[in-house]
Amino acid sequence: MTPSRPRAAVNVDIDGLYLYDRIHGHAGGSGNAAGFDPAAHDPTVWTRGIPRFLDAFAQAGIQATFFVVAQDLAQADVRAVLKDCVAAGHEIGSHSFTHPYNLSRLAPDAIGEELVRARHTLQDATGQAVLGFRAPGYVLSDALRTAIADVGHTWDSSRFPCPPYQLAKATFIQAYKLLGRPSGSLIEPVGVWVGPRKPYRDRLPDGRTLVELPVGVLPGMRVPFIGTSVLMWGEAGRRVLAPVVARSDWMNFECHAIDLTDHAGDGIPDRLKTQPDQRVPLAKKGPLFQKVLSDLARTHDVRTLGAWAATL
Ligand SMILES: [Zn+2]
Repeated sequence: MTPSRPRAAVNVDIDGLYLYDRIHGHAGGSGNAAGFDPAAHDPTVWTRGIPRFLDAFAQAGIQATFFVVAQDLAQADVRAVLKDCVAAGHEIGSHSFTHPYNLSRLAPDAIGEELVRARHTLQDATGQAVLGFRAPGYVLSDALRTAIADVGHTWDSSRFPCPPYQLAKATFIQAYKLLGRPSGSLIEPVGVWVGPRKPYRDRLPDGRTLVELPVGVLPGMRVPFIGTSVLMWGEAGRRVLAPVVARSDWMNFECHAIDLTDHAGDGIPDRLKTQPDQRVPLAKKGPLFQKVLSDLARTHDVRTLGAWAATL
């Protein structure tokens, strides 16, 4: 038998620009506030970002998972890109219907409605069973984990056991509060910051289990291994960390569709320049992502999250 290579998965959260407005508390751009029309949002992350991910995955020979906010399918342009993802053999997961950052804290009925609508919409659009879920802002609760299983999902990939990320998020939520610009994000309990970093069967309050595939952190210091951090480290950081990544079992490389957009070239509004991904031009980001993906494909057994879930 040949020795098995360490496990890896690559996935993309397709968060529309309206969701970044909500994170950063920009008045008037708030995602699902009264009057928000899913048929009229700016689809740049779909129409510009996702085709670049599809090219990058094809070049690296990787099958990935795309997490979709189902209300985005109200637009024909978005539906066309989703079809391209499916045609290329990638997996589609649910990222809820409207991406409420407080989904975990909604009443059980409201949580159930978000999840059922999303799953049905995505299954109708793709003709495939949608088995996986990722929570908005990575935040789970007992009620949400139970609902994920009730709806028929068999796996979840929302846990982000990363103290540096969680600390940074808690800090900016507090800072925005002080500035009078409340953010839609939620702070997570410390138990999540230090939870398991490899896939496991998560026990639900009623005794059932749900496969959990945590978002990527490196062993030891638990440095995040996601698109945003790769962009911040740049090529020098990639080279320093490559040997650590190469040896690490379970690298769940989580990207966002905005990661492969170009702030100037794609005409993204200037108010979103606070996003780290927006300060790096595509001419730099594209080749960097391609290298990270090719490295992973060489050192790891890269499969979709659903394929890994089926092995647990
Ligand atoms: Zn999201």
